Amino acid sequence: MSTAYHYPSELELVTYPHPALRARNTAVTEFDDALATFCQRLLDAMRSFRGVGLAAPQVAVNQRIFVSDHVGLEGEDAPSQPMIWINPSIEAPEGSTTYEEGCLSFPGIYAKVQRHDQFTAVWQDTSGTEHRRQLNASNDILGIVFQHELDHLEGTLFVDHLTPSQLTMARRRLRELEQTHKKRYGRPGSVLRR
Ligand SMILES: [Zn+2]
Repeated sequence: MSTAYHYPSELELVTYPHPALRARNTAVTEFDDALATFCQRLLDAMRSFRGVGLAAPQVAVNQRIFVSDHVGLEGEDAPSQPMIWINPSIEAPEGSTTYEEGCLSFPGIYAKVQRHDQFTAVWQDTSGTEHRRQLNASNDILGIVFQHELDHLEGTLFVDHLTPSQLTMARRRLRELEQTHKKRYGRPGSVLRR
């Protein structure tokens, strides 16, 4: 009996309301070469899409993995800090902070979202080794990226955090994305929880 996951070699970004964004994501149990190769491809894909974070369900892989690299947000000379986060979780969250977020799976929508300020990030690397790191979202964008991407692994999307008035502002664009999806796939996707 094998629990090995078959990772695709070509990664295609999926956008709202693709059902992969709402599907259940499985914990990674096999820390093999296929996992390491997929994680590198996910980093490459994130760079090609010009994102600062990308979660596996955004390429229709429903595994608990995301990548981040927040180069550029601290200035042109800031060093690249590519990170791979496997089976991530948050411990001891404290305080709150807000930041204007966007998402590669919601092109054209940006909104301020409330997040935890401080927390301990817990995750595994591609060899399965566990790591812990204190993050402070109000002075490190990585703290925002981590929470946004972790949400993806729970099937939660940043628009789920919007207030009714923010959602009203985004409504027209959401409808456009829903119509584009229906045209392409011939059926509606997984629309917002209401
Ligand atoms: Zn996102």
